[in-house]
Amino acid sequence: MAREGLTINPAKTCQPIGAMYAALGIHGCLPHSHGSQGCCSYHRSTLTRHYKEPVMAATSSFTEGASVFGGQANLLQAIETIFTVYDPDIIAVHSTCLSETIGDDLQQITKKAKDDGKIPEGKYVIYASTPSFVGSHITGYANMVTGMAEQFSVSTGEKKEQINIIAGWMEPSDMREIKRLSKEMGVKIVLFPDTSDVLDAPQTGKHELYPKGGVTVSELQSSGDSICSLALGCISAEPAAIALEKKHKVPFETLDMPIGLSATDRFVMSLSKAAGVAVPAEITAERGRLVDVMADMEQYFHGKKVALFGDPDHLIPLTEFLLDLNMKPVHIVSGTPGQRFDKRMQEILERAPYANFKNGLNADMFLLHQWIKNEPVDLLIGNTYGKYIARDEDIPFIRFGFPILDRIGHSYFPNVGYSGSLRLVEKILSALMDRQDRTCLEEKFELVM
Ligand code: SF4
Repeated sequence: MAREGLTINPAKTCQPIGAMYAALGIHGCLPHSHGSQGCCSYHRSTLTRHYKEPVMAATSSFTEGASVFGGQANLLQAIETIFTVYDPDIIAVHSTCLSETIGDDLQQITKKAKDDGKIPEGKYVIYASTPSFVGSHITGYANMVTGMAEQFSVSTGEKKEQINIIAGWMEPSDMREIKRLSKEMGVKIVLFPDTSDVLDAPQTGKHELYPKGGVTVSELQSSGDSICSLALGCISAEPAAIALEKKHKVPFETLDMPIGLSATDRFVMSLSKAAGVAVPAEITAERGRLVDVMADMEQYFHGKKVALFGDPDHLIPLTEFLLDLNMKPVHIVSGTPGQRFDKRMQEILERAPYANFKNGLNADMFLLHQWIKNEPVDLLIGNTYGKYIARDEDIPFIRFGFPILDRIGHSYFPNVGYSGSLRLVEKILSALMDRQDRTCLEEKFELVM
């Protein structure tokens, strides 16, 4: 009988984690969790474990009283205290299961804070509703990024020669790479959110509560005057692009996150077209190096079966890239619900009608493990939680996505763009070749591969 009412080891985490991560991508912003201390501690510690950086956030510290009568008084007090003691430029408030269940209205409370003079001149409080009993960390991320677009953007009536790039959930290293590619192409962009130089800040011997990175308020405000927006991810980035279109008529294009050859090609071509610039020779050379390695090593990729799990905006281009490598993505699982994922995956998997894919409530790690037992794979790709399956089934495993709690590198080396894709190719190849070296027959053990 099909399992319907039970999730076992979900392939996702909770909404506020995404909202907290997105908020860290605004310069001088302190994320604020409107709920109990436990939620905030969990969210902070998950981000800290993934980024190996101290993640700061405040909480409304609900106790029994707030849980019964509502958390307005707590939030108003928190806003006053935070601006007095920690002096951020912005507080980004997100809700939690508890405050959503009580029915706290963040828009009304933040308006009251302003009316009561609790928000100093030149400072801001933004908010996003992130009830964790629906969606996932990706939904929470999308909600906070949409909040940034809705609550900061203004339109002066004069267009600016710049393009908004709305980052779906990606690593600081990926955001840095998007900025590098845009600079290489000579395109002025407003990238938001931008966690580079926030969660990958260098050691200077001095702790900065607000590191130098992050999109600035004036950049966010100017997003209403941009020529257009490119949303990198139909689930985690597109809602913010829609908000900008509705509010300021900024046209947008939704792209897959530029992971792999085809998705990066589409990103580079869209940016080139939107900005009216040619693709520079250096980027063409980067592409050429990736294609060369893909062709040279094709025999190692060909026909290898892969299981992958994680976040929808990662899985879509990653699956496409595996197919471009002539690999066989056979099992694909995402805990984040949403029909956009279904639709886009169906399009990509026209080339792979054999693949199992599922997202939403029952798409969990247990299901993935069952699928792998029924049809074994040569490679597993996903976040740290995959290590249990990899160990049980003795499968080469590449860590990719969120959270990665037991390795480093994801904050520093990108997976997007041609060079990020080259790194992915290297990781896949190393995992497969290490396995071959470890298990092949003595007479097949080769020095040169
Ligand atoms: S699922 Fe809800 S209660 Fe649990 S940590 Fe997340 S917001 Fe808090």
